[in-house]
Amino acid sequence: MTREEFERAYAKIVPAFDYRENNGVGIYTIPAFSAYPQIDHGFSARTGGVSTGCFSSLNLSFTRPEQRENVTENYRIFCEAANIPLDSMVLDHYEHGTTVLLVDRLDRGKGYSKPELPFCDGLVTDDPEVTLITGHADCMAFYFYDPKKQAIGLCHAGWRGALDRIGSEVIRMMRYGCKSEPADIVCGIGPSICPKCFEVGDDVADDFEAAFPQCDLRGVNAKGKATVDLWRVAAAQFMESGVKPENIHPMGVCTFEDTRLYSHRRDKGRTGGMAAYLRILKNS
Ligand SMILES: [Zn+2]
Repeated sequence: MTREEFERAYAKIVPAFDYRENNGVGIYTIPAFSAYPQIDHGFSARTGGVSTGCFSSLNLSFTRPEQRENVTENYRIFCEAANIPLDSMVLDHYEHGTTVLLVDRLDRGKGYSKPELPFCDGLVTDDPEVTLITGHADCMAFYFYDPKKQAIGLCHAGWRGALDRIGSEVIRMMRYGCKSEPADIVCGIGPSICPKCFEVGDDVADDFEAAFPQCDLRGVNAKGKATVDLWRVAAAQFMESGVKPENIHPMGVCTFEDTRLYSHRRDKGRTGGMAAYLRILKNS
């Protein structure tokens, strides 16, 4: 794909999201995903939980220096608000890598009430007993749904994972594990640090330009520092893998700017974590 072809396709992609609160718990959703009655999905805001201070209040990360009981209770509150069966969750165990695991009902509880999965930034399943969960605090969540095979994928895509094409790895696992065809797959991008706010060193921007020459991903901010457009990087790897541009749906929400969200960079590391979720509904 040439840069002109990519930019022409990307220009037609319109970011969109919905936001709702249930018992004080905020949930962001992607309208194009909500349109499918066979799945449920969302992304948690930081509101409605029991954590205090810099973790206030719905911290869903067990790796932050706070009491495990608080996070466990936050998951209970979150699952109730989002109508997720608490015992159906399978949590990622991210390391900013590109490992994607195929999981099923035998993995339920891992990372929550049972020991964690091996390191993995992505999860794939076609089992309706499973809710996929990934953790975030500026890093993108990629959502994948194949309506033909009733298969789903979810991943944590920090800048390293995005650079190393974790999105393509999830699609590869859906092909291998669930017989999905990329042309059938619908992709979503959750809240993350936006193109304007993601300031990087020149070396990082150079790496992205070398890896994704087809897209106009580099910018300059008011301080004269380089910025990278991770949303374009996401779309570029989806398209490379055979996803149709009309099936790519970014939320367009910036974690750095939206104070309902935790931002690792804005809060200088002293912050909580949010969760993305995706599941196939049993009676679909
Ligand atoms: Zn921003």
